[in-house]
Amino acid sequence: DLRDPLELARIETERTRWIEHRWTGGPLLAAVGDENGRDLEEIVNPAHGNDRVGQVAWATDGDIAAALSAAQIWDAAPEKRAEALRRAADLYEAHYAELFALISREAGKSLPDAVAELREAVDFLRYYAGFATGEAPRGVFTCISPWNFPLAIFTGQIAAALAAGNAVLAKPAETTSLIAWRATQLLHEAGVPATALQLLPGEGRRVGTALCSDARVAGVCFTGSLPTAQAINRAMAAHLSPEAPLIAETGGLNAMIVDSTALPEQAVRDILASAFQSAGQRCSALRVLYVQRDVEEKLLKMLHGAMDELHIGDPWYLDSDVGPVISAAAKKGIEDHIAKARSDGRILHRLKTPGRGHYVAPVTIRVGGIEDVEREIFGPVLHVASFEASDLDRVIGAINASGYGLTFGLHTRIDDRVQHIDSLVNVGNLYVNRNQIGAIVGSQPFGGEGLSGTGPKAGGPHYVPRFRAAKVNRMPA
Ligand code: NAP
Repeated sequence: DLRDPLELARIETERTRWIEHRWTGGPLLAAVGDENGRDLEEIVNPAHGNDRVGQVAWATDGDIAAALSAAQIWDAAPEKRAEALRRAADLYEAHYAELFALISREAGKSLPDAVAELREAVDFLRYYAGFATGEAPRGVFTCISPWNFPLAIFTGQIAAALAAGNAVLAKPAETTSLIAWRATQLLHEAGVPATALQLLPGEGRRVGTALCSDARVAGVCFTGSLPTAQAINRAMAAHLSPEAPLIAETGGLNAMIVDSTALPEQAVRDILASAFQSAGQRCSALRVLYVQRDVEEKLLKMLHGAMDELHIGDPWYLDSDVGPVISAAAKKGIEDHIAKARSDGRILHRLKTPGRGHYVAPVTIRVGGIEDVEREIFGPVLHVASFEASDLDRVIGAINASGYGLTFGLHTRIDDRVQHIDSLVNVGNLYVNRNQIGAIVGSQPFGGEGLSGTGPKAGGPHYVPRFRAAKVNRMPA
């Protein structure tokens, strides 16, 4: 039951709401509270420009050089490493109210999303702790994370690298550096040595590039957009050993097919969650909905009626369904895409945008098919196409031809169709008669195919082994 913890969180976080979170330390976090002469960047709440969440100092070139020299693999016994990761999970849980407040205020996520995010981070810590073994680590791993899961993905990457015994240099997204700072503090408090985990906040192009192009780095774990993964790949190829792995999870042009046998009420509920929950800022989010022509008029009428019931507002309150997008720049990119669709006369339905904060009102846009959507639009924008049953294989062919392959949703009551589509579609995660967002560490691992990621799937049994050196020892017979 989510209600009680959320109510408690509200009371406690109201108290921490106006406490300024400030990080001004060097890469070892030795100097929290000491400004060290660095310039400080303001971090503001995407829902309220006048809510200053805190300040952060970007790592300097000197900090990066010092961190690379100081990094040391974590050579404690595997059970000690596992213990520290489990202790970190306990500390995350103990500090839930503060973490909810930061996730909501810094990343603009709703409280239910914040609860899910904390649970996933804790699950990653406990699950990967179980994979700590005495096998050889690779060395120094760079972990670069996005802002849309500022605690869960940040923690998952680091926990996997540490479970394997590596040293980690963590570069969080600029916009969510404070959550990363607090999580790093808790990991250190749990017993992860300062030399095994160093935080280097700052701009991706400078700090991120530097951490992917130093020959002392043995591998990179990245989650974010495809163009950034490609830039990292190029930087690594120029400077790192050819065997240094890039573990990359990227974006998608995720589709859903709703045929004429689907239960319309259930399909509408799952479309809403898949396209608009977290303001569409999930890599798994539904981007292109295909509805069978016979039921299209009815289904879209129901969908647009249900959209009208969504409440766009402050993610802090439980009655908000759609919060803000992360920044003014993100909002502009999404609104430009919507404006182009409007000038082409392709808007099907649009809600009203609240006046302040970086809000984007959910919208549906008519397209001929996935081939009309040039790139991933990372916001509450749903493209809608229709299809005839006889066209199904062509539709799946077009989805595969996009090159992406992250999530795919199917609503049907025909068993053979599930088997058939499953055998054709190239995606990492397929969801039938449910929403297509979400994963469960340990039982429903997550990750894409093709342009959507290199694998192995996060939260699955093959993940931590990728962070180890593959060594074959041959003994005399
Ligand atoms: P992004 O712009 O690619 O940034 C991701 C991270 O890379 C940030 O820390 C960013 O730093 C850093 N970065 C930027 N340029 C870099 C460079 N040249 N070298 C090294 N690092 C660099 O992605 P985002 O906007 O944060 O996140 C949204 C994207 O992530 C979407 O495409 C989404 O689909 C994808 N995503 C995928 C998954 C998955 O599991 N497949 C999960 C979540 C999100 P700055 O913050 O300084 O730019």
